[in-house]
Amino acid sequence: MIRLGVLGWPVAHSRSPAIQNAALAAAGLSDWRYQLLPVPPDLLTEVVAALPAAGFRGVNVTIPHKQAVLALATEPTRRARTIGAANTLSFGPGGRVAADNTDAPGLIASLPLPPQGRTALVLGAGGSARAAVWALLDAGAAEVRVWNRTPERARALCASLGATPVTQARPADILVNCTSVGLDGTSPFDRLPVTAENLVWFGCVVDLVYTPKGTELVRAARDRAVATVDGLELLVAQGALSFEVWTGLAPPVAVMRAAALGEVAAAADSYRGRR
Ligand code: NAP
Repeated sequence: MIRLGVLGWPVAHSRSPAIQNAALAAAGLSDWRYQLLPVPPDLLTEVVAALPAAGFRGVNVTIPHKQAVLALATEPTRRARTIGAANTLSFGPGGRVAADNTDAPGLIASLPLPPQGRTALVLGAGGSARAAVWALLDAGAAEVRVWNRTPERARALCASLGATPVTQARPADILVNCTSVGLDGTSPFDRLPVTAENLVWFGCVVDLVYTPKGTELVRAARDRAVATVDGLELLVAQGALSFEVWTGLAPPVAVMRAAALGEVAAAADSYRGRR
């Protein structure tokens, strides 16, 4: 058995096992399995060290371990080092641990328009905002502006990556929500510097957040005929790139997307059942 998994704490909510196991089955990799790996921070180092001997070829990494795993990698990619976070580890012979960040190229692959020469507004200054800002600048965006609830974090992020901190929104080609606002299913517009009406300022709206019923930000943009990318699409895109890193095969993206959507439908059913 060749093992893959997702390391996080907590991680029970992750849709990655459904997405990756569907992809492994579709690719005919019947002796591969992808599983949840709930690991608290104080056990991270010893668990990562033990995974190769337990049959693991690689793992995804999620909150709160994305920064800490970089220190455990023997071969971090340039983008993982510059972003300061990794979400994909691959184990090789002799204790080799390669680390990459597929959130960044996953975002670029999902955009409905190429970022080269365009402007972007990124909301948030946490780990995913850092990956988004780096990705957009690396893909040739003309200017990336960053707004954050805590402005000093936006200023620090911009200083290290070459973006522009802002305290209010103005029109841009691409809007990316990298805050956790909207995760609770409520309207995000009281906590973000945009209103539903001024979403038409943007050529496309990307929301990293995903919920079983979709987010209000994405719904409001679609209602106004603005192109959107939702958090589930981004999850599939980064997962597809991780699949390719581990298996060397072209990822069955349509299967992965269907698996992600199937999970969402099941989650929505159980949500309805509880009410
Ligand atoms: P993080 O490092 O904890 O950053 C959270 C960000 O949200 C910070 O900028 C924080 O602002 C802001 N924030 C939190 N509560 C807020 C509020 N009430 N009002 C305004 N801003 C608020 O988290 P992260 O890793 O960047 O992840 C952010 C979100 O993206 C999460 O929901 C995560 O699930 C999602 N995500 C999705 C994918 C995907 O594949 N779809 C990938 C990665 C992340 P302050 O600095 O002021 O605290």
